Amino acid sequence: MSTSLQFLIAFVLAALIGALAYWRKSLSLSGAVGATILGTLTFGFGGLAGSAVLLTFFISSSALSKYKTQRKEAVAEKFSKGSTRDFWQTMANGGVAAITISLWGLTGDPAHWAAFAAAYATANADTWATELGTLAKQQPRLITNLRQKVPPGTSGGITLWGTTASFLGALLIGLVAQINGPFNFGLVLIIAIAGLLGALSDSRLGATLQATYVCETCQLETEQHPVHNCGTPTTHVRGMPWMNNDWVNFLATLTGAVFGGILVSFI
Ligand SMILES: [Zn+2]
Repeated sequence: MSTSLQFLIAFVLAALIGALAYWRKSLSLSGAVGATILGTLTFGFGGLAGSAVLLTFFISSSALSKYKTQRKEAVAEKFSKGSTRDFWQTMANGGVAAITISLWGLTGDPAHWAAFAAAYATANADTWATELGTLAKQQPRLITNLRQKVPPGTSGGITLWGTTASFLGALLIGLVAQINGPFNFGLVLIIAIAGLLGALSDSRLGATLQATYVCETCQLETEQHPVHNCGTPTTHVRGMPWMNNDWVNFLATLTGAVFGGILVSFI
């Protein structure tokens, strides 16, 4: 197939999936534009193998986001955005992967394939931990000291159940990357470990550098700024003011990708 034809098909498929996700309210309009850009690069440079990894992330995370929505609504007010992803959320989750799969398509270097898969393993691990972790009965503890208990949905709060969900989310991406990628064995575990490390770095950044606000009326910590759900303006309590959840996700996928690219040189 000629390269221009492959990219034309990639664009049409990516736009169709973006439109479907918009219709299902998994993506906002700007999110659908972002997904079309990421999908075109991934399908175009990554072919069927790259597409399989992206679609595994997209389908499993969208399905989980819609699962048991009511129960999660109780803790959803913690998050600055709902389960409908916008442009910057799609870029935060898929930007590093789009760059690394483009490099893989251009150079054929297997480390780039591993970095691509590890970036999506991180995004999937994080999504599975968030979506399934908020359903856990255990109260989360702060990743920075593992002693302090925090309310469910708090950035940086982890549970054994959520961390297990995280590993399984990364493992699923590892399996798909193994089956479709340029390695015979070993990749699946490397991607699962890199994805878990990426997701843990996400929690750690969430607990330390991520901008956190407090609503005096509700006596709650929140990511919502400048105004809380209830209408009260929120006050900054810790973290770097520009470090929102999108930056945290971007840095975490970058961390996962770097681990994946380095670890793969050992097999
Ligand atoms: Zn409030």
